[in-house]
Amino acid sequence: MAVESSLAAPLMEVFASIQGEGLYVGEPQVFVRLRGCPLRCRWCDTPGSWKLDGAEREVRIDARSGVRRANTWATPFQTVCWIAECEPDRPRTVSITGGEPLLWPAYVRALASFASSRRIHLETAGAHPRALAEVLDVVHHVSLDLKLPDDLDEPVEIEVAHAESVPRTRAEWAETRAQCLALVRGADACAKLIVAGHRRPEQFDELLESVAEHAPKLPVFVQPATPIGAVGAPSIELCTAVAERARALELSVRVIPQIHRILHIP
Ligand code: SF4
Repeated sequence: MAVESSLAAPLMEVFASIQGEGLYVGEPQVFVRLRGCPLRCRWCDTPGSWKLDGAEREVRIDARSGVRRANTWATPFQTVCWIAECEPDRPRTVSITGGEPLLWPAYVRALASFASSRRIHLETAGAHPRALAEVLDVVHHVSLDLKLPDDLDEPVEIEVAHAESVPRTRAEWAETRAQCLALVRGADACAKLIVAGHRRPEQFDELLESVAEHAPKLPVFVQPATPIGAVGAPSIELCTAVAERARALELSVRVIPQIHRILHIP
């Protein structure tokens, strides 16, 4: 595995699109998708990002001049050059997504430094509070997933130096979630809660109660799962019931589907 520098990280794709989720939904952004994720969400819509080296060990760069590919391992400086190539016009907010970007906190910090004229958004599964604490002062927005333990298959080990081990049990998830929520309390951040079709409203109480306890002002987005494999879409009644349970806890809540799926854009 050829690594260019200690700050390099494996990228899957760099592309311009419209933010389809969360607090900044609808905003034109540039997306930097990193490879590597130890979690196995049953409704994952980017399983191609799970492994560090994809089948072709390449990053896809959707540049204005056309799509091209390069070695998957990229330095932050190289990434900033690709971001500029992908933007249609004026500099955009950069959304660092994955995979799990917090496998690579040093890369995220350096990328934010090289791209200091832009807003940097971080999308994370909320399983790495130590890494989140490392990058919090250099990112402008955090979109934090709230994972329902019942929606997760057994996590896998990822060979990344100094990576935190991820939670496995319900108790470990509760502790990790509390740490992440406490970190983003008062910050420009939001929480995303994916609702799959086969769930009951009360299953989400443990997530909502964590928000109410640790970050009560955090905007919460109830996001209907996009049907994938055995996971079906939820009914509007289920989404509404979850939102009402959030409202009962005096949380700020919105129900918003993934709009990039509706628009058929990446
Ligand atoms: S954390 Fe994200 S990339 Fe990882 S399995 Fe879950 S949805 Fe997929």
